[in-house]
Amino acid sequence: MGTNQKSVDAFKKAVEVMPGGVNSPVRAFRSVGMDPIFMEQGKGSQITDIDGNEYIDYVLSWGPLILGHADDRVVTKLKEVTEKGTSFGAPTEVENELAQLVIDRVPSIEMLRMVNSGTEATMSALRLARGYTGKNKILKFEGNYHGHGDSLLIKAGSGVATLGLPDSPGVPESTAQHTITVPYNDLESLRYAFEQYGDDIAAVIVEPVSGNMGVVPPQGEFLQQLRNITTDHGSLLVFDEVMTGFRVGYHCAQGHFNVTPDLTCLGKVIGGGLPVGAYGGKREIMEKIAPTGDIYQAGTLSGNPLAMTAGLETLKAMTKEEYQSINEKIDRLVEGYQRAAEKYDVNIQINRAGSMLGIFFADEPVVNYETANNSDLEAFATYYRTMVAEGIFLPPSQFEGIFLSTAHTDEDIDKTIQAVDQAFAAIAK
Ligand code: PLP
Repeated sequence: MGTNQKSVDAFKKAVEVMPGGVNSPVRAFRSVGMDPIFMEQGKGSQITDIDGNEYIDYVLSWGPLILGHADDRVVTKLKEVTEKGTSFGAPTEVENELAQLVIDRVPSIEMLRMVNSGTEATMSALRLARGYTGKNKILKFEGNYHGHGDSLLIKAGSGVATLGLPDSPGVPESTAQHTITVPYNDLESLRYAFEQYGDDIAAVIVEPVSGNMGVVPPQGEFLQQLRNITTDHGSLLVFDEVMTGFRVGYHCAQGHFNVTPDLTCLGKVIGGGLPVGAYGGKREIMEKIAPTGDIYQAGTLSGNPLAMTAGLETLKAMTKEEYQSINEKIDRLVEGYQRAAEKYDVNIQINRAGSMLGIFFADEPVVNYETANNSDLEAFATYYRTMVAEGIFLPPSQFEGIFLSTAHTDEDIDKTIQAVDQAFAAIAK
């Protein structure tokens, strides 16, 4: 990596005008003891910062860019559509097209509503679940992130299955008390929570593969049991597939694991890099949303033609073969990590579900938030800084997954594996 003076200067300006100099906290790079790198442009798997340094990108805007940066098919269509007008506040045909494509691929979705972010999708899905069931409480899992809506910005209280506590000033305790939090992959705690509060649980919301405490796949029968328990109690099962949707595989995580939720939240990949979210599910439930039903939810820019076009072109390009090819690249990457770990005697845990991949610097298997937190954050920071210096851009946190795109080449993977070798050598020192 060459100089980073322009990024340093830009960050000085940024902190004057935006809290922490960023528009989303994780971009601040604090957990790895660095300042943010300001980006200039991207093409395929490569990004270039404002100082002219180039990187192979495994952040991909935190997941959406499954075709890589500035994919020609997406860009060409976006240019065409932009010239015809960016938003009408009236329906357009491209909304039908993207909705139909999502319905065709996602087993649980018979109807959907487009929104503008993953946060909006989960907030709206929970309002719908509460309105539909007439119940008040939500059950979520420790270490799952569902955006920053008040009911979901909740941390666990003490004990196995507890009413939550606000995770941020500004979230009223009265709101937090309607959210029950239990450990991920822990069916006993889940059953206990249902024994205590089962009559009033409107929905269980879950990341079917957790991607926000690092990648933690569901173990054994976890998802199937969630399905059974919610059905038995008249609660809705909501899969938050904002990250896993069209990332884990062609039919999303629910197709991969063959468990069908009542409602599904989407985001990231379905917007192809533009702001989109969506929630959908059974027709009977979705028709409770206004204007067919009386549960209110709306959006000035929802379903706008630019976002719909980027999503549509992205999903059209993501054939089953493309998922297969991403998987093969991940296989090679995983082998590279394993070789380096053995060579330098660095303890890592590799968690993977379909094309979601997480590397933990930990001695024991990572199955939930508690075990994720046993990771060696110092080792991660050394690894991270070496990788960046070698031109590999990764999410600056131990608690995030690595994303690949169809644009990553075999050479990219080879170069990344070489950098991993250096990074693990630095950790072993
Ligand atoms: N749900 C999950 C599983 C996510 O990973 C995220 C974001 O990372 C969200 C919801 C929130 O989405 P957004 O950042 O688009 O509001």
